[in-house]
Amino acid sequence: MTALRAPGRLARRLLLRVLAFSLCFTLLAGAVQLCLEYRREMRDIDTRLELIRAGYLASFERSLWDLNQAQLRVQLHGLVDFPDIAWASLVSEDFKLIQGDIQGPGPLRVEHFPLSYQPPDGEPRQLGELAIAIDLGAIYRRLWHGGLSNLLWMGLFLCGLAVALSWLFHSLVTRHLGQMAGFAGRIAAGDLQHPLRLDKRVRSEADEIDTVADALEDMRQSLRADLRRREADRQALQHKRDELQRRVERRTASLQRAKEEAEAANLAKSRFLATMSHEIRTPLNGILGMAELLRDAPLGERDRQRLHALHKAGEGLLAVLNEVLHFAKLEDGASLPESVDFDLRALLDEVLTLLEPCAAANGTCLRLHIEPRVRSACRGAEQLLRQVLSNLVANAVKFTEEGEVCLRLQLLERGEQRQRLRFAVVDDGIGIPDALQARIFERFTQASDEVARRYGGSGLGLAISKRLVEAMGGRIGVDSREGQGSTFWFEIELADATAPGLAPAPPAPRAEQALRILLVEDVPLNREVAHDLLARDGHAVTLAEDAEPALALCREQAFELILLDMHLPGLSGVELCRAIRQQTAGRNRQTPILAFTASVQPAMVRRYFDAGMQGVLAKPLRLDDLRRTLAGIGAARPTPPEDGVLDRQVLATHRELLGAHRLHELLGLLRNLLAEHWPALHEAIAAEDAAEAASLAHRLAGGCHSMGLRGLGDCLHALERAALAGEPLQGWAQRLDAQHAAAAAHLQP
Ligand code: ADP
Repeated sequence: MTALRAPGRLARRLLLRVLAFSLCFTLLAGAVQLCLEYRREMRDIDTRLELIRAGYLASFERSLWDLNQAQLRVQLHGLVDFPDIAWASLVSEDFKLIQGDIQGPGPLRVEHFPLSYQPPDGEPRQLGELAIAIDLGAIYRRLWHGGLSNLLWMGLFLCGLAVALSWLFHSLVTRHLGQMAGFAGRIAAGDLQHPLRLDKRVRSEADEIDTVADALEDMRQSLRADLRRREADRQALQHKRDELQRRVERRTASLQRAKEEAEAANLAKSRFLATMSHEIRTPLNGILGMAELLRDAPLGERDRQRLHALHKAGEGLLAVLNEVLHFAKLEDGASLPESVDFDLRALLDEVLTLLEPCAAANGTCLRLHIEPRVRSACRGAEQLLRQVLSNLVANAVKFTEEGEVCLRLQLLERGEQRQRLRFAVVDDGIGIPDALQARIFERFTQASDEVARRYGGSGLGLAISKRLVEAMGGRIGVDSREGQGSTFWFEIELADATAPGLAPAPPAPRAEQALRILLVEDVPLNREVAHDLLARDGHAVTLAEDAEPALALCREQAFELILLDMHLPGLSGVELCRAIRQQTAGRNRQTPILAFTASVQPAMVRRYFDAGMQGVLAKPLRLDDLRRTLAGIGAARPTPPEDGVLDRQVLATHRELLGAHRLHELLGLLRNLLAEHWPALHEAIAAEDAAEAASLAHRLAGGCHSMGLRGLGDCLHALERAALAGEPLQGWAQRLDAQHAAAAAHLQP
C-alpha cells in the first residue's frame, strides 16, 4: 500500500537494480573477454615462434656456416620486424649479434633456438644459439586498452538500457499504480462519486493494470450501492424511530394526563370521603352524646336495650368514619407525630386490656409474650404504635372465635441507644386465602363479601396500619393459612427513652369553678351535646343560634367565656367576635372568646386571633379537651408573653392543635418560602419596582402572620402599603433584613 502511494520509488528501485545487475554483468563479460583475448594472443605468439623455427632457422644455420655476418644481420632485422618481438640475438663462437630494443619495459618471454649444421660429408656441428624476446608488456597493454574500452561501451549501453526500462516500467505500470493509489485513497476518504480514469490507451486486450483498475472500479460501484442501501435503511430506521418517539411522547402525555386525572380523582375522592365523614361525624357525635345523656334517664328495659343498640351501632359507624377520615388524612400527607418517651410493656398491656371485653365476648383468650431482653423504656411515635397494635389485635379478636390470640414481642437487634423489634399478633381464627394475602394491605380490601357481611369493617384498618408502620420506618407482613389462623407482624426500630423514669400522662383537669358560658352554635344537635357536656361539669350555659341573639345577650349579660362556632349563618364567627369586641355598650368586650371549629389550619387560627379571640376549641368536641381548655380559662391561665417579634399565643395554639412536629414542618415551609422569595424582594426594592415588591410582600406577610412571626409580617404589610401608595422603597431593605434576622432564630429547624 505504501509502495502504491509512492510509485516513483518502485521505478527508482528498478533502475538501481538494473544498474547493479548491468555493472556485474559488464564486469563479468569484460573479464571473460579479457581472458579469451589473452589466450588468443598467447596462441599467436606460439604460432609465430613455430613459423620462425620452421621458416627461418635453416637460413640462419647456413648464413652462420658461411660466416656471412651481413646476411645474418639482415635476417635478424627481419625477425625483429615480426609483431611483439622486442629483440633477437645470435651468439656463436665468432659473433654476438643483437637486433631490437633491449631496454624495453618488459616483461619479456625469451625463447632460445640452438643452431647446428651438417655438411654433406661430415658430422653435424653446433654453431651457436638464436634468442628471441617477446614483449609481453605490449600484449598486456593492448589487452588492457581493448578490455577497458569494451567495458566502457558495454556499461554505457547497459545504463541506457536500464534508464529506458525504468521509463517504460514507469509509463506502463507505476504511473497507473499511482493513479490507482490516489483513487483508493479517495474511496477511503469517502469520495465514491468519481470513477477511476487511467491515462492509458484503450486496447482490445486487457492487461493486468486494466484488470486491477476494473476490480477497483467494481469495488467503488458496489460500495456506492451498499452506501445507498444503508442510507435508505438509516432513513427508514430514523423515520421509524421518530414515529416511535412521537408515539411514546403521545402515550407518555396521555398516561401523564391519565395519571394526573387519576391522582386528582383519588385526591378528590379522599377529600370527598373526608368531608363526608367529617360532615357525618359531627351529627353522629351529637347522636352518641345524646345517647350517652339518655343513659341516666329513667327508661323501661326495652327502651334501654334499644338505646344500647343505638349506641353500639353509632359507635361502630363512628369507628368506620374515623378510619376513613384517618386514611384520607394519611393520603393527604399527614405528618408523623412527635416522639415521646413511653413504657412499651404498659402500652401492650393497655392495648390488650382495652380489647379484653371483645375477646371475652368471642370466647377468645388473649395472651402476651414479651422476650425478657426487650427494653421497656422507649421513645417513639407511641400513638401510631398503639393504633397499629390495636388494629391488628382487634382484627385477630374479630376473626377468631373461641380461640387464642397471642401478642408476641421479640428483640431482633440491639444497637446503641436503640433496638429493633418484631411485633407479631398470632391467632388461630379463620385465616386468609393465599391469593388474597398479597392484596390484604390495600385499602378497602376484604377477604370476601361473606366475611365483610359477617364481620363488618371498612377494609381500611390494614391499609392504615401499613402506612403507619412505614411512617415509623418499619415493614409489615402477614403469614396465614385459611382455616388455621394468621400471624400479622411488623418490625420497627425504637430508640431508648431519654428521660430517666416514665411518668403517666396527667389526666385532664376538671374545671375548679363553674363558669357562665355563652355558646353560639347553629346546628341544634351540636348545640345540645355541647350544652349538656358543659352543664354536666356544672357550668351555667346560655345558648344562642346565631349572631343576632348572641349580640343581644352580650349586650345584656356579662359572661366568663364565649364559645363561637365559626360557620354561622349571617355574620361569620370572626365577624361576630369583632362585633362583640366593638359593642359600645357591650359587657363582654374583655371576655375570653374561643373559636369552636373544625377548621384549625394555621392561616385560619391566625384570623381568629386577629379578630380578638383567645384560643381555639377543636371540633368534634372531646370532653378532655373541653375540660383542659376550660381549666385554663377558669384558672385565668396567663397568656404567653407577647413581644414585637413573635405572637407566642398563636404559636402555642398551633403547637397544641397540630403537634410540635407539624408545627416544625410548617415553620420549615415558611423558611423555604422566605429563602426563595427574599432575593427577588430585594431586587424589586432596589429597582423601585413597586408592583412586584407589593405582590411579594403581600404573599410573604400572609405566611409570616399565620405562623406568628408578627414583627416580620407587620413590616412586610407596611412595605406592601408603602409600595401601593407609590412611596420610595430605598429604606425598606434594611428594615426588612433587621426583622428577618430577628425572626430567623424561630425559623431554625
Ligand atoms: P376491616 O375493617 O374490614 O377489618 P382491615 O383492613 O382491618 O379491614 O382488614 C381487611 C381484611 O383482612 C378483613 O376484612 C379480613 O378479611 C382480613 N383480615 C384482617 N385481619 C385478619 C385476621 N386476623 N384473620 C383473618 N382475616 C383477617
